[in-house]
Amino acid sequence: MADGSQDHPSTLAAQALGRVDPDTRAIIPPIHPSATYERASDGSYPGGRTYTRDHNPTYDQAEALLARLEGGDAALLFSSGMAAATTIFDTLDAGDHVIAPQQMYWTIRRWLEELVARGRIELDLVPNGDHVALKRALRRGRTRIVWVETPANPTCAITDIAATAELAHAAGARVVADSTLSTPVLCRPIEHGADLVMHSATKQLNGHADVLAGALVTARRDDLWDRIVHDRAYRGAVLGPFEAWLLLRGMRTLFLRVPHSAASAQLIAERLVAHPAVVEVFYPGLASHPDHAVAARQMSGGFGMLLSFRVAGGAAEARRVAGALRLFKNATSLGGVESLVEHRAPVEGPGTPVPDDLLRLSIGIEAVADLLADLDQALGRKSTN
Ligand code: PLP
Repeated sequence: MADGSQDHPSTLAAQALGRVDPDTRAIIPPIHPSATYERASDGSYPGGRTYTRDHNPTYDQAEALLARLEGGDAALLFSSGMAAATTIFDTLDAGDHVIAPQQMYWTIRRWLEELVARGRIELDLVPNGDHVALKRALRRGRTRIVWVETPANPTCAITDIAATAELAHAAGARVVADSTLSTPVLCRPIEHGADLVMHSATKQLNGHADVLAGALVTARRDDLWDRIVHDRAYRGAVLGPFEAWLLLRGMRTLFLRVPHSAASAQLIAERLVAHPAVVEVFYPGLASHPDHAVAARQMSGGFGMLLSFRVAGGAAEARRVAGALRLFKNATSLGGVESLVEHRAPVEGPGTPVPDDLLRLSIGIEAVADLLADLDQALGRKSTN
């Protein structure tokens, strides 16, 4: 077959679908900074484009690649992960009901709570992966969206996407999966029944902590997708062409970076479990994680670059350890090639379900022995295995 449909996803990513520029035969695509496009003398648009807020050609290859990697029908880039997420909630009508997990990326949870306070939506927050609670919360014909984030940031709670989709679909709701922590390398939510996949492409999709971007991928082009396409252009939360180009460049190495970081995260989690200065480790790759079996079933090739752990000695000790690390940079965000640490609860503020002694680690692509040594020196005691 000449269309590449038999190629492994890592091949598709490395070659960005194998496209070459038809005008110049360039292997690397050009960046299109033009804000506007010329009409023909009859007033038509022979290039098929009018204005960059509607669609910029620099998006095309990145969107096509992401849709392909996720097994979706189409993808759209946004100016941030939050822009992608809030665009979905903006499609709701007044009084529509949303179900989201208690543990999830805090700004999206806060945003949902603000929409409730503004009288825009009704919301139930249910324990992650609790199907009894989900079933109880679902309102047939009223619940429009069941939001899933798996693994969840920062507690690595796991949700069974297929079981969630079965319940949500039976009640007429759509499932949206924030798959930022998985990337399509480790999990493809559409294969498990999700209707939409959302990414903070700022994280591991781009992978170099130098782009703010978001993305949505749809399982099918339906009325909701048409509305999202329309709304992106009207709301104007679009990505700059330079950022789109950088994102595509980053995605080319996705299949090298993601398994590497995940393998290091697994090793670090296993070492921290046995560390005398650590109270608890949150990582779905650990057999002791309560939903390890679900994670193992719906993820493949690793369990992600993010892990969290509680430090013996409480919040003050956690803060000290974060500051004492040398290689791990004490900074927010995740998914870059350099490892980061963050004392998380103060960032999320009052009401967060995150323990106040929790440190979140984003594992990069450094030598794992160096990262382990850095953790040992900062924790002040050597691990026992
Ligand atoms: N979803 C998750 C899981 C995240 O971690 C983040 C950001 O940290 C977002 C969404 C929001 O993405 P952005 O910062 O690109 O707006």
